[in-house]
Amino acid sequence: MDSATTRIWLRHAALLIDREKDRLTRLDLAIGDGDHGVNMHRGFLAVTAELDQRHTERDMTAGKLLVGAGNTLVSSIGGASGPLFGSSFRALGKTLDGPGPEDEGHRFAEALTAASDSIHRLGAAQPGDKTMYDVYRPASEAFARATGSGGGLALAARAAADAAEEGVRATEPMQARRGRASYLGLRSVGHQDPGAASLALIFRALVNALE
Ligand code: ADP
Ligand code: MG
Ligand code: MG
Repeated sequence: MDSATTRIWLRHAALLIDREKDRLTRLDLAIGDGDHGVNMHRGFLAVTAELDQRHTERDMTAGKLLVGAGNTLVSSIGGASGPLFGSSFRALGKTLDGPGPEDEGHRFAEALTAASDSIHRLGAAQPGDKTMYDVYRPASEAFARATGSGGGLALAARAAADAAEEGVRATEPMQARRGRASYLGLRSVGHQDPGAASLALIFRALVNALE
């Protein structure tokens, strides 16, 4: 993925999060402390501000832009989700710029796997714990499958975004075992996970950027 598309992706993500911030906050009000929409909005506003500032830097690679966005997200989202989103974007960017397959789709698939693994490592959530990992894992796997069967980047992104949205719905009947929502025990059942919902927006933004 080139740096122009990466910029468009981050801007689309900011747009979707801005549009959906009230819904994200409502989800977090139900099973958390009600700040998730505000946190994400603040984070992606900082990312777009940084993109505005750096729009003249022509030597920026997609990887450097994503590592930069990750750093900005860590320091601006806050809460539990800031470090998690931040480390996932950093892993994405580092892998994209590192050694790896020539083919764009396979390289991006590897990067998404690294991003998903970084959330898993940092947050120690297992599948089914009702976190953003319940979106990252199936989405990155769907991306890799679509790439493996010869689809282009846009097609693979669509498969990932569809899997992400399915992943969000699947968090509803789960009982939270990580993060603030886990304090609610069984009362966390019956609500979608807010971090998972945000992540699905980021995958949908990738589809929009590649169209
Ligand atoms: P906080 O809970 O500190 O207020 P946010 O509301 O911004 O932070 O983010 C909450 C989201 O963070 C959850 O919906 C969940 O997706 C994610 N999360 C929390 N803890 C973990 C964890 N250990 N592993 C993965 N994701 C987590
Ligand atoms: Mg919260
Ligand atoms: Mg909080």
